[in-house]
Amino acid sequence: MLTRYPLRKSLPLLLGCFALVFTLMLITMQLPRSLEQALQTWREHSGQMLILVQGSLADHLRKGRNEEMETQLADLSSIPGVSWAMVVDEHLQTLAATRLDLNPKQLAVANNETLQSYIATASNQWLGRGTQQFVALYPLGSIAEHGQVSLLVNLDFTPLLGQIERNSWLLLGETLTLLLVLGLLLNYLYRRLITQRLARLESAARHFSSGEPVLDVPLDGHDEIGNLASTFNTMMHQLHNRQRALSESEALLRDLINSAPVGMLVVDQELRVEQANPAAAALFGCRPEELIGNIPEDRLVERNARQRLQLTPANIPLQLTAQRGDSQIPLEVTYTPFQRNGKTQLLVLLYDISERIKAEQRLRFLAHFDPLTNLANRHYLLQRLEQVINADCPLSLLFLDLDHFKRINDTLGHELGDHLLVELSRRLQAQMPGHSLLARSGGDEFVLLLEGADLRTAQQFAGQLQGSFSDSIRIHNYDCHITTSIGITTFTPGSKRDASELLKQADLALYMAKDQGRNRIAVFNSELSAIAEQRRQLENDLRRALLQKEFVLYYQPQVDNQGQIQAMEALLRWHSPLRGVVAPSEFIPILEETGLIIETTHWVFRQACRQARLWAEAGQSLRVAVNLSPLDFRQADLAGSLLAILDEEGVAADLLELEITEGALLDADDEVLQCLQRLRDAGLPLLLDDFGTGFSSLTHLLSFPFDGIKIDRQFVAGLPSNEQAAALVRGILTMASQLNLLVVAEGVENEQQAAFLRLNGCASLQGFLYARPQPAELCTIHTQPGYLLKLPPNK
Ligand code: C2E
Ligand code: CA
Ligand code: CA
Repeated sequence: MLTRYPLRKSLPLLLGCFALVFTLMLITMQLPRSLEQALQTWREHSGQMLILVQGSLADHLRKGRNEEMETQLADLSSIPGVSWAMVVDEHLQTLAATRLDLNPKQLAVANNETLQSYIATASNQWLGRGTQQFVALYPLGSIAEHGQVSLLVNLDFTPLLGQIERNSWLLLGETLTLLLVLGLLLNYLYRRLITQRLARLESAARHFSSGEPVLDVPLDGHDEIGNLASTFNTMMHQLHNRQRALSESEALLRDLINSAPVGMLVVDQELRVEQANPAAAALFGCRPEELIGNIPEDRLVERNARQRLQLTPANIPLQLTAQRGDSQIPLEVTYTPFQRNGKTQLLVLLYDISERIKAEQRLRFLAHFDPLTNLANRHYLLQRLEQVINADCPLSLLFLDLDHFKRINDTLGHELGDHLLVELSRRLQAQMPGHSLLARSGGDEFVLLLEGADLRTAQQFAGQLQGSFSDSIRIHNYDCHITTSIGITTFTPGSKRDASELLKQADLALYMAKDQGRNRIAVFNSELSAIAEQRRQLENDLRRALLQKEFVLYYQPQVDNQGQIQAMEALLRWHSPLRGVVAPSEFIPILEETGLIIETTHWVFRQACRQARLWAEAGQSLRVAVNLSPLDFRQADLAGSLLAILDEEGVAADLLELEITEGALLDADDEVLQCLQRLRDAGLPLLLDDFGTGFSSLTHLLSFPFDGIKIDRQFVAGLPSNEQAAALVRGILTMASQLNLLVVAEGVENEQQAAFLRLNGCASLQGFLYARPQPAELCTIHTQPGYLLKLPPNK
C-alpha cells in the first residue's frame, strides 16, 4: 500500500507513525508502573518518618509537653502527601492537631467505634481511603486521663501522583516534539540525500523515455546514488548514441530503398505484396500503396508468372513482363528469401530491362549491319563469303572505293558526306543482281559479293556501275561528281583460299586501280599485288612517321646580291628508321592522297615558327618560307588554323612566308581567294612557287594577292646558254619589276647562273651554289659583318 505514495511521503509518514505509536506504548506501559512505584516509595518513606515522629511524640505526651507536640505535628505536615495530623485519645478527643478544625469523629475512613477500636489495639495501622488516600494510625502510649493515645495522620498522594502523571504526559509531549524535530531534520536530510536525487534521476529517465534529447543528471557525491547517476548518464548517452545511429541507418536504408532505381517488393510466401518502393510502383505505373496485397497475376502479363517464380531458385534472374497501362515493360526479376518476425518473406528485385533489350537488339544489328546505310557490314560479308567458299561455288568479289571522297568530307563537311554515302548505297543496291550481297566495309569503301559470277561478268558489272555514276548526285544544294575505283578478284571452285584472303586481294586490286589514276577497274594478279603491298606499307609507315615524329625540317637559304641571307626555305625530310632519309618527292604525294598532308603542314608550319623565333631571339631576323600543298586548301579553314598556330607560338607574321604552287590555284574558287587574302592581311608574305611551269601563271599573278614569285629550277638550269630560257627569265624579271613583285630564282648551281640573274635584276637567289638544305643545327650563326648567318657547308 505504501508503494502507492512517493518515497518522499511514505517514509516520513511511516517513521512518524512509528514514533507516535512507540511513545504512546511506552507511556501507557510505563506510567501505571511508575505511579505504583512512587506510591510505594512514598508510603515507605512516610511510614519511616511517622515511626520516627511516633517516638518523640510519645515522649512529649508522657511529659505533657503539648507545645512541643504541636510543633512536631506542624513539622509533620511538611512530609509530602501529609495533609494533616492530630493526636487523639481513646475517646476521640483531639490532644493536638495541625489544624484547629480537625475532628476525628468526622473522618471518612472509619466510624467512631471502629476508629476507637483501632486506637485501642495500640498498633501501627494504615486505613485506606481508596488507593491514594490513607489515614495512618500510630499509638503513642496510654496516659492516665486519656487512655490509649494515637497519632492520626492523613496522607493524600493524589496531587503527588497527579503531578507524576502530568510530568509523564509532559515528557510524552517533549519526546514527541523532539521526535518531530528529529523527524523533520531526518526528512530534510532524507530528501536532500535520497529522494531529491532519485527524483532527478527519475525525471531524466522520463525525459529521455519521452523521446527528448538526453538530459544529464547532475553528478553530486560519490555515494551509491552519485554512482548510479554517473552510470545512468553513461548509459543514457550510450543508448542515445545507439538510438541515433540506429535511426540514422534506418533513415538511410529507407532513403536508399525509396530512391533506389531498382524496383523492390517484400512479398509473403503466397507472393502477396506487403511492401513496395516507388521504383517498383513506377514500373507498374501506379502508387506504391496500390501494389500492397497484389499477387503476380494482377500486374504481370505472363499467366504462369507465379508458377515460374516458384520454380526459379533464389537469386536467379527471371524475365517477366509488367503491364503498365497499355504498355508492357520487360522485367528482370530476382528474389531473395529472408526471415522477419519468425516468418519467411521474399525480397523481390525488379529491373526494367527495356533499354538493355534494345541495346542487345542494336548490338545484334550492329554486329551485322552498318548503321548509316543499313547495308551488311564487313563482318557479315566475311561470314557470307566464307559460306560461299565452303560451298565451293564460284564467286567474284568487288572492292569499290569513291575517288577523293575525303575531299568531299573535308570541304563539304561530314554530314553531307554521310548523305552522299547513303544515296550512293541506295544507287548501288538498286543495281545489285540476284544472289549478291552489298556491304559497306568502312568509310567510303563498299564490297560486292557476286555469287556464281566469273571474271568477265564481274568486269562488265563493274563497268556498268562506274557508268551509272556519270550523272552528278545532288545533295542539298551541291552537285557532287563522283567517280569510283573498283578492284576485282574471283574465286573458282577447287582453289584454296579463305574469305579474308579474297578480301585482301580485292583490296589490293582497288589500290592498283587508284594508283593507275582512279576511276578505273583493276583485276587482282600476283605482280600487282607486290607493288600495291609496297605502297600500302609506305602509307602505313608514313602514318607512323607523323605519330612518332620521324619528320625533320631542313633549311635552304635565299641570298641577296651581297650574299646576305634574306629567307630560309623549310623543306621536309623523313628520317625513316627503315628507309633512311627520304626525299619529299617520294612521300608528299602519298601524304596528299591519304589526307595526312593537312596534319603534316600544320606540323611543318609550327616547327618553322619555332625556328624563326629561335633565330630572331639569337638576333637574326630571317623569314622562314613554308611550302603549302594544293591539298592543304581542301581543309575547312586553312587560314584560321595557320594563324592560330602563329598565335600559339607567339611569332610575328612577317617572320614567315608561304610558297604556293599553281596546282592550288587551278580550280580555286572564292574560298581559296579569301583564304589567301586573309593570310596576307595577317602579314604573311605569299610567293607563287615553281613559277612558269603551270599553264596560266600570269593569270594567277593578277587574280591572287602574291608578294613575289619563285622562278622554277628548270628555267634557271638552262641559263645562260639556253636562249629560250634566258629570254623567258629576262621576261619574267621585267614583268615582276613592273608589277613590283619580289623574285627568287631557285636551283642556282653555278656562278654563271648567279651572274646572269643578278645582271638582270633578280634580287634573291637560292640553290646549291649557296647551300644545300640542311638541318637547322648546321645553319650556324656567325657575327661577321655582311653575313648574318653562316651558310651551311655546301655538300
Ligand atoms: P620546291 O618547293 O620547289 O623546293 C625546292 C626543291 O629544289 C627542294 O627539293 C630543294 O632541295 C631543291 N633544290 C634547291 N636548290 C637546288 C639546286 O641548286 N639544284 C637542284 N637540283 N635542286 C635544288 P626537295 O627538298 O626535295 O623538295 C622537293 C619538293 O617537295 C619541293 O619543291 C616542294 O614542292 C616539296 N616540299 C618540300 N618540303 C615540303 C613541305 O614541307 N610541304 C610541302 N607541301 N611540300 C614540300
Ligand atoms: Ca618551295
Ligand atoms: Ca620550287
